[in-house]
Amino acid sequence: STDDLNCTTDVGAHAAVGAADEELPTVGHFIGGEAVTHAQRHAEVTNPAQGRTTGRVALADRQQVRDAVDVAAAAQRSWRRVGLTKRAQVMFRARQILEDRRAELAATITVEHGKVLSDAEGEITRGLENVDFCAGLTHHLKGEYAEQVATGVDVHQVRQPLGVVACITPFNFPAMVPLWMITTAIAAGNAVILKPSERAPSAALQIAEAFREAGLPDGVLNVVQGDKEAADQLLIDPAVAAVSFVGSTPIARHIYSTCAAHGKRVQALGGAKNHMVVMPDADLDAAADAAVSAAYGSAGERCMAISVVVAVGDIADSLVERIRARAESLRIGDGTDPASEMGPLITEEALERVSGYVDGAAQEGAAVILDGRDLRGPAEGYFIGPSLLDHVRPGMKVYDDEIFGPVLSVVRVDSYDDGVELINANSYANGTAVFTRDGKTAREFEFDIEVGMVGINVPIPVPAGAFSFGGWKDSLFGDTHMYGPEAFNFYTRRKVVTSRWPESSESQVDLGFPTH
Ligand code: NAD
Repeated sequence: STDDLNCTTDVGAHAAVGAADEELPTVGHFIGGEAVTHAQRHAEVTNPAQGRTTGRVALADRQQVRDAVDVAAAAQRSWRRVGLTKRAQVMFRARQILEDRRAELAATITVEHGKVLSDAEGEITRGLENVDFCAGLTHHLKGEYAEQVATGVDVHQVRQPLGVVACITPFNFPAMVPLWMITTAIAAGNAVILKPSERAPSAALQIAEAFREAGLPDGVLNVVQGDKEAADQLLIDPAVAAVSFVGSTPIARHIYSTCAAHGKRVQALGGAKNHMVVMPDADLDAAADAAVSAAYGSAGERCMAISVVVAVGDIADSLVERIRARAESLRIGDGTDPASEMGPLITEEALERVSGYVDGAAQEGAAVILDGRDLRGPAEGYFIGPSLLDHVRPGMKVYDDEIFGPVLSVVRVDSYDDGVELINANSYANGTAVFTRDGKTAREFEFDIEVGMVGINVPIPVPAGAFSFGGWKDSLFGDTHMYGPEAFNFYTRRKVVTSRWPESSESQVDLGFPTH
């Protein structure tokens, strides 16, 4: 029962805390249409630009997760009966509400994550593409029909929801990644338990509130805040039919194998090391603009960030110089300041980790062209400037590991073939790009490269909402990509119905195997 839980109706960024003597606001759950702040354990919520704790987030225990799943299961039984046009109307209204609150939602993201406001708005725009696509759910949920597969026999296939699905999301896209998942899951008639990252927990509540106001029945979209304990319960809970996950590769692997062992459908997207090949014929200024934007945007905390530039042939010196000049002049500061181009890292621990990589780069044999530790932003907060490392090679930690910070490595290769070989040997395969003016090279790259998402003169090729998003190899465990058409496969199960309407005079006993 939720009767003894502390419920408020305010599910905004920092919902009111339960106990009066608590000073810090508590970010709570949203279960069955109600804000719930009760929890045994909490984690700190920080403003990374100020380096200070701004609140605390409730961490659900296993029983709270169980209870939320039961609430979702009950809501799903009604939701799957709601007509498709009515579901589509919820999508249209939710889209408008989120659009109207874009600035408020972006501010929430910036305060908890650190990315600059324009970047936060950008992730909302890309997330809303998924709402747009799902507004066409009456089309996406259409089945198939074959008349007269045998005399008087017809076959049709329908798509039905799975039941309760869990969505476990990372800190770095507090709005976009939840919108990748929940939109299709709901459109297809499922109920959702969304467990956002405990490091950026509030945007999910604002999204849930938007869907509630759009007419989504209570219990269809629930936000359960938590850490490993809550996530692990979702992986084993018998009433959870499927799990969508985005996060780091070690956790993605754990999610995939645990879900598989418990008979669940699962898609688990992991980390990345995205290479951008610059061919000798490329427009070097345009390539440098793209490399700097894609490497240092959001302080490198993007799964599609470019972390390695592969310079082919003798352009390397001039390309490195162009990147250095641009990176050096980036304005680093609080993301709420419109003048800032790059905000802080998410935590002090992330700052230490990224600093450690830069620190070790010279010892590993890399040339440190720009040391981000010299270009720090404001003293308070988890700021580090952009780093540029040249002469990086596989086997160096800065090359082999996903750094997830504003550190760009340059690997010099002699030929196109060497570049392709380098990328195909990497265990990550999320995104990649080639910069060239030659159509034949671009086409060959598209053909040869073993990576899930490819950009041709586009550094961050996140597919538009009518396609689906996913890497290969250690960047995705499972076979279904996120959002778009593949998501409608992931969140539905197909049922095939064979039917005939014989005259009773045609009926007879026949123990043979039915043939046509
Ligand atoms: P993370 O793996 O630490 O956390 C992701 C989610 O898993 C969070 O909700 C977290 O609470 C939960 N979690 C953490 N430890 C867990 C455990 N042991 N068991 C179960 N659940 C656990 O990732 P992060 O630091 O929040 O996000 C950054 C990572 O996500 C980077 O590696 C980045 O490349 C990746 N990412 C990938 C994509 C993609 O599309 N492939 C998109 C965004 C981010």
